[in-house]
Amino acid sequence: MMEKTIRNFCIIAHINHGKSTLADRLLEMTGSVSQMEMREQFLDSNPIERERGITIKLAPVRMKYQLATFNLIDTPGHVDFSYEVSRSLAACEGAILVVDAVSGIQAQTLANFSLAQRQGLVIIPVINKIDLEIAQPDKVSDQLVNVLGFRKEEIIFISAKIGKNIEQVLKAILERIPPPSGEVDKPLKALVFNATYDLYKGVLVWLRLIDGKITQQFIKDKLKIKFLGTGAVSSILEIGYFLPKMLPASTISAGEVGYLATGLKDISLCRVGDTVTFLRENKVESLPGYQEAKPMVFAGLFPIEGDSFLLLKDSLEKLKLSDAALSFTPEISQGMGKGFRCGFLGLLHAEIVQERLEREFNVNLVMTPPTVEYQIEKKNGQLVKILKAADFPDPAQIDKVYEPYVVAAIFTPIDFLGPVISLCKEKRATLVNQEYFGNQVKLTFRMPLAEMVIDFYDQIKNLSSGFASLDWVEEGFKQVEAVRIDILLNGQRVDAFSQIIPRPNVQIVSRNLVEKLKNLIPRQLFEVIIQATLGGKIIARERIAPFRKDVTAKLYGGDRTRRMKLLEKQKKGKKRMKQIGKIAIPQKVFTEVFKK
Ligand code: GDP
Ligand code: MG
Repeated sequence: MMEKTIRNFCIIAHINHGKSTLADRLLEMTGSVSQMEMREQFLDSNPIERERGITIKLAPVRMKYQLATFNLIDTPGHVDFSYEVSRSLAACEGAILVVDAVSGIQAQTLANFSLAQRQGLVIIPVINKIDLEIAQPDKVSDQLVNVLGFRKEEIIFISAKIGKNIEQVLKAILERIPPPSGEVDKPLKALVFNATYDLYKGVLVWLRLIDGKITQQFIKDKLKIKFLGTGAVSSILEIGYFLPKMLPASTISAGEVGYLATGLKDISLCRVGDTVTFLRENKVESLPGYQEAKPMVFAGLFPIEGDSFLLLKDSLEKLKLSDAALSFTPEISQGMGKGFRCGFLGLLHAEIVQERLEREFNVNLVMTPPTVEYQIEKKNGQLVKILKAADFPDPAQIDKVYEPYVVAAIFTPIDFLGPVISLCKEKRATLVNQEYFGNQVKLTFRMPLAEMVIDFYDQIKNLSSGFASLDWVEEGFKQVEAVRIDILLNGQRVDAFSQIIPRPNVQIVSRNLVEKLKNLIPRQLFEVIIQATLGGKIIARERIAPFRKDVTAKLYGGDRTRRMKLLEKQKKGKKRMKQIGKIAIPQKVFTEVFKK
């Protein structure tokens, strides 16, 4: 028999439309969080994600409403985590779509709406912020009817901020979202929609049970579970629910959302999207949609102080325990010393890892510009995969080069259509489809991932005043005429600045690169010559004149403490520098140089 009183749902919205505020109200109204614990935006628990306003880890929470149990499953809000978004939607039967009563349907509203629709979820349309004087609830409700095809009667008007009509939302969850449809008496089948690491309990998998149950008796009998995708096997140390703190329980059954402590030390064995069953079951089939963790973007991480290599190694290992998508292998770079080549889901993921290493582990880092994987057919028939420009073979050895492509969906208000299309064309993108939803447009492009990983997302956001949204899926490899250009500083190659580019762009990119480096690298006590080369030939050159940087020169005699302070400051500044031969390069040069 199946529990008919369960409702599994998520809240989807464009950024700032009130998703977190509504979640807070639902928790409050159902008495799920005590007043003491209640702080705004309860679900966004990681400090970095709170600051950035994105949700990386999907905190679920169990609530009681009347006689029913509600499980609210949070979804990450960024394209780097789109696979995780789709898996967290797969754990639900319904979604609350929150739309701001002032700004109406926005890019991310549409993107989320289509994801939820594709997943077959029941969608409850909610118009938020009706307390505002400038709210236009009628206009926005017409949009929901005309653009997304809702019926007028379905729409709920609320103010999450002042707690108006929240009861109607709770009622709608109960009445409109169907209970889960699995069977308790069937063999165990559960979807892994997230995994985290606990020092004592090992990997905790966050499960949506589809069929079957896990009970205390099974734990006593020492029954093992297996992960159908990765093949991993583990014991069950503990099971329980999210309230939203983890609370051990004696049983979790079909339709429910809970956690399972595995004792495993390696989180990459417990992939999001995988299917869990008992080891003894041999007829249970995998749930659809499972994907391997696949790094798409690669960058070198180097400690600023040469002796922190071991600290960096140790920190990456610790971080990997809670981040299955992170991969790394040691790398030695000419000029940068010992570090790691890391694989990430996307740019944001790379930035988050860098930030966590610096904040939580106190490692000072340089991150080299992100790159993609190139596949090369050499003239001798050998096939090689290249993850950093420095490894790119000599042009004479290359037969063919292939680069990864993506299909990108960009939702934008019509006002920004022109600039968005021109930007995409600049990035070697081809428009394959264009669809209109009211005053929003969905553009579908096919483009090289390499063009996207630099700062495409930021550029799209900038030229649309933050209104456009971007989503992409990989789409295999395609041939490209590509070469490697190198940068020499006073004759020494700095491999972090090497770049793989399409051949027609060689002149312009080389020119830009040396000019940018000239502007970014501070003057030194000696002359610095910057050269761009292709297969040993110089294609562009710049010069930085010498300059004596004595910060105390301006201070005449007198104030000794002030002079000491300045010298101290200069010394600290030096620490944020990377030494290439005799040349001191600020960390930011490595990240700024490839931006537009
Ligand atoms: P999220 O990005 O969708 O999670 O949005 P938040 O819940 O963080 O809300 C974004 C901003 O809108 C915050 O400053 C909230 O205080 C505000 N906000 C949310 N709901 C309401 C509402 O009903 N009325 C008003 N006036 N402001 C709201
Ligand atoms: Mg939020």
